[in-house]
Amino acid sequence: MNVLIHRLPRNLSIIKPASHCTSCGEYVRFFDNIPVLSWVILGGRCRFCKSKISLMYPITELLTGLLFLFSYMRFGLGAEFVLAVCLIIVTVSAGFADLYSAIDTENFECGIIPDSLIVFGLISGFITSYIVHGNILFPVYGAAVGFLALYIPAMLYKMVRKREGMGFGDIKLVSVCGAFLGLKSVFFLVFCSALLGAVVGILWQLTARRKDMMIPFGPFISAAAIIYLFFETRMDRLLYGV
Ligand SMILES: [Zn+2]
Repeated sequence: MNVLIHRLPRNLSIIKPASHCTSCGEYVRFFDNIPVLSWVILGGRCRFCKSKISLMYPITELLTGLLFLFSYMRFGLGAEFVLAVCLIIVTVSAGFADLYSAIDTENFECGIIPDSLIVFGLISGFITSYIVHGNILFPVYGAAVGFLALYIPAMLYKMVRKREGMGFGDIKLVSVCGAFLGLKSVFFLVFCSALLGAVVGILWQLTARRKDMMIPFGPFISAAAIIYLFFETRMDRLLYGV
């Protein structure tokens, strides 16, 4: 997934070349490519040129591993587990890709959510959610309403203010999450991601040095989708009182 996160926004192949050090270009040996563990054993440095390997690599690996484990504990091994794993792959990759491309202002002007992740998300979301719920309308309504829930306000904003208020990638990501999680999740996704975004945005304005940076919205959508995946019943009760 780190390969997806770093290469997809740059339109690089995710197959070739094999994992390599971004400083010296030396290939990562298979025994140095064990999630989390290799980073710790190598002391967070390249075996060859000793340049630092970002802490974000093991963090992404650890987070993904834990989320897979929670999915297994929550859903067991079945169709729901496959749905959960696909959703986690899409949301974690999209969230971090968006975040890193927003931070990397030398190469990107804003955060990027790669279209290939959106396509993978829509396909796997439709298939797994159809199998779990036995109803093709479940992902159809979720994806359609997820799209419109942000597309309409974004268009209105653009008409009034004459500038982009929300990235199209964010709109597509909510639609993908809607395909996985259904119509009812959309209101939670919009509400929760806006709330998280507002809290982080305020903290950012109070503490950060680079106040000009556009805060990417993708990570908050991803966080909201993962919260809903695990706490659907509680979140529904919170929002709808049922
Ligand atoms: Zn190196």
